Amino acid sequence: MRKPIIGGNWKMHLGTPNEAISLIKSLKSLIKGIKNVDIVIAPPFTVLESVVRELKKTDISVSAQNMYFEDKGAFTGEISPLFLKSMGVKYVILGHSERRQIFGETDDLINKKIKKALKESLIPIVCIGENLNAREAGKTKEIIRNQMNFTFQDLIGQDMIKIIIAYEPIWAIGTGKTATPKQAEEIHIFIRDILKEKYGENVADEIRIQYGGSIKPNNAKSLFSRENIDGGLVGGASLNSESFYEIIEAAEKNT
Ligand code: PEP
Repeated sequence: MRKPIIGGNWKMHLGTPNEAISLIKSLKSLIKGIKNVDIVIAPPFTVLESVVRELKKTDISVSAQNMYFEDKGAFTGEISPLFLKSMGVKYVILGHSERRQIFGETDDLINKKIKKALKESLIPIVCIGENLNAREAGKTKEIIRNQMNFTFQDLIGQDMIKIIIAYEPIWAIGTGKTATPKQAEEIHIFIRDILKEKYGENVADEIRIQYGGSIKPNNAKSLFSRENIDGGLVGGASLNSESFYEIIEAAEKNT
């Protein structure tokens, strides 16, 4: 019903054209048989243009890892959504936990970025998730509800269906600790229930919710077999074409 979507978040890796293109060429040859999965690559800004060029005439889309919410101006070091669009970028990751934790991004800032991305027809991949303290204190659902209230503030159902949500428990990102399929599915159901309350059943059913946090070829299948897990946002394992392909293949086989 919902087409799975697999994103590869390269973070601050493979930022030179040679490294990036070598991975993309290898991935292109591997994914030839894939038909039922949306594939998105989020490389560093420095290679967006090269990656877009290399992916022309393929079904793989390109995402930025961040953007600012203004068109232009005195915002040293920031990237305008207009620049991204002009390069052929289709998606943008917003609110990744590394942006929230290391660079102090707030729900309010992320909300402004989401609105701007939608205005410019970029598809936001919006990350939400609890940290280890919150999980251990039994506060996961409270945190998720708050993040959803504030990051999606003022958005209506027609906006929401254009968004991809990535549930990424922070304790599972880059740590090798994956949420079990049961733990992940429980929160995906919770997120979908909130979407139902706010925007109605049709909208909630349409929105894709990815899981993210140490997805690897050996755990992808069991995660993707859950009804409410519509693919994944993959960090470390997307830096190798074969492991990323195996994760994509796990999503394809589940369709
Ligand atoms: C991520 O960066 O969004 C992520 C989930 O990373 P990893 O797969 O390395 O945990």
